[in-house]
Amino acid sequence: MKNFHVAIIGGGVIGSAIAWELSKYKLNVIVFEMGGDVASATSKANSGVIHSGINSPYGSLKARFCVEGNKMFQSFSEKLGFPVKWVGKYVIAKNKDETKELERLKKVGIKNGVAGLEIIDGFEVKNKEPNVSCLEALWVPTAGITLPYEMTIALAENAVINGVNFSLETRVINLKKENDSFSIETNKGTFRNDLLINAAGVNCRDIVSMIEEPEFNVYPCRGEYLVLDKNYHNLINAMIYPVPPKKQGVLGVHVTPTIEGNLLLGPSAEFIDDLADKRTTKKMMKTLMKEAKVILPNLPDNAVINAYSGIRCKLASLEDGGWADFRVEESKQTPAMINLLGIESPGLTAAPAIAKEVAKMISKHIKLETKNNFKTWKFREKRFQEMTQKEQSKMIEKDERWGRIVCRCEHVTEAEVIEALSNSLGAKTLSSVRYRCRAGMGRCKGGFCTQHIVRIMENQFNMDVNDIKLNSPFSNLFHGRTREVEDD
Ligand SMILES: Cc1cc2nc3c(=O)[nH]c(=O)nc-3n(C[C@H](O)[C@H](O)[C@H](O)COP(=O)(O)OP(=O)(O)OC[C@H]3O[C@@H](n4cnc5c(N)ncnc54)[C@H](O)[C@@H]3O)c2cc1C
Repeated sequence: MKNFHVAIIGGGVIGSAIAWELSKYKLNVIVFEMGGDVASATSKANSGVIHSGINSPYGSLKARFCVEGNKMFQSFSEKLGFPVKWVGKYVIAKNKDETKELERLKKVGIKNGVAGLEIIDGFEVKNKEPNVSCLEALWVPTAGITLPYEMTIALAENAVINGVNFSLETRVINLKKENDSFSIETNKGTFRNDLLINAAGVNCRDIVSMIEEPEFNVYPCRGEYLVLDKNYHNLINAMIYPVPPKKQGVLGVHVTPTIEGNLLLGPSAEFIDDLADKRTTKKMMKTLMKEAKVILPNLPDNAVINAYSGIRCKLASLEDGGWADFRVEESKQTPAMINLLGIESPGLTAAPAIAKEVAKMISKHIKLETKNNFKTWKFREKRFQEMTQKEQSKMIEKDERWGRIVCRCEHVTEAEVIEALSNSLGAKTLSSVRYRCRAGMGRCKGGFCTQHIVRIMENQFNMDVNDIKLNSPFSNLFHGRTREVEDD
């Protein structure tokens, strides 16, 4: 049985941020992630917005961690090599009643320490955003966008480089506290550790219930999105949000530019019974388009290229208004177990600040000594598509695999696919390629490149074709061959 100082359950953005923070210290850390890669749940399926902190009440953990996290993002992204863009956001009011709400949001924001908030009239908005009509808007310059899965991967891969162990496809099945340590039973064996971090997202209650009786409930709330083709990216420059709906504790259907140049419409807010029900539905697609058109009437109906959904981990039911604060706390019943509960939006923004807080909590149990050899590695250098022609030629001269395009939609080369498959986490699913280099993320959704990626996995990584998976442990792409491949 292997012993660790700290075990983290969950390789989402929260678990990965904590892992990276802890990798700065002389600690033996392990992360258990049941998916085939990190960011396999909510951390890859959200709006990718770096929130400013205007939406959570003063004094709440959500407000504190959001504002602190927002301020850390620029240096975080520069160090770790994931992208951010400070596009700003407009919260638009369509009528007099809604303008009052803008005043309220501005006051909350100022109290929370958000800089640069300004209420501007509809004419000024029209100047900046010709496709948006409103009476007034709250301009929020400190709101930005990022790629949530790249951020999570960058954090996790940097943690690995600094000695953290990530155990993928490893589901925590049971927990026991024996004397001063935990015994963690997983599908890959039993592990022992001193401190336990529950960063299991929407499954946080299941983890707590393995060791004590939870005194809270999780109310999963699904948010569906539509992704629009890149041809429509210039419909807006900044993010456009409605005044938040009064109930549900969500921000409402907004239109958001993405780092990759698409537009996102959503998310919906639907309280559901099953934590794992990530369906996208025809009914919701129609609703999303209708609601998005209220803020951006020129949206074309035929521009949708994809849909996805993420599950909010809500600690308050719809009947109770849907809003509850984050809980970042050590269990009273089970000392040395730190629970991260109800980390819904703005959890992505808050992740860097939450990770610092958790390290502080850990320091009460274990003396944290900084490592001398801590290093940072940039997750993303320039993609082939982003290089100048001269740079591209230079790369091809060095290695001809840079000259072979595997994904035609996103212009991803064989060299980039190989780089993605050589990741330090050891993630080798089709999705782990997709989220690292974008092969398969374009218009044809992998119709062209999947076969080429499979060949690369087989021939250059010696993977058995029957073991190749889409993402999760049971998502095998193939079930045997219909005939053997003959050598030429
Ligand atoms: C629709 C929607 C929109 C959002 N938009 C934004 C936004 O724009 N900006 C923002 O700041 N925040 C946003 N959020 C919130 C943000 O996405 C979350 O707060 C954040 O991703 C939570 O990360 P996490 O690591 O806690 O959870 P997750 O990403 O869900 O990670 C938890 C991990 O734990 C693993 N796990 C669970 N149980 C086990 C087990 N037994 N054994 C091993 N592994 C286990 C899961 O596989 C999962 O990978 C949004 C959320 C949603 C749903």
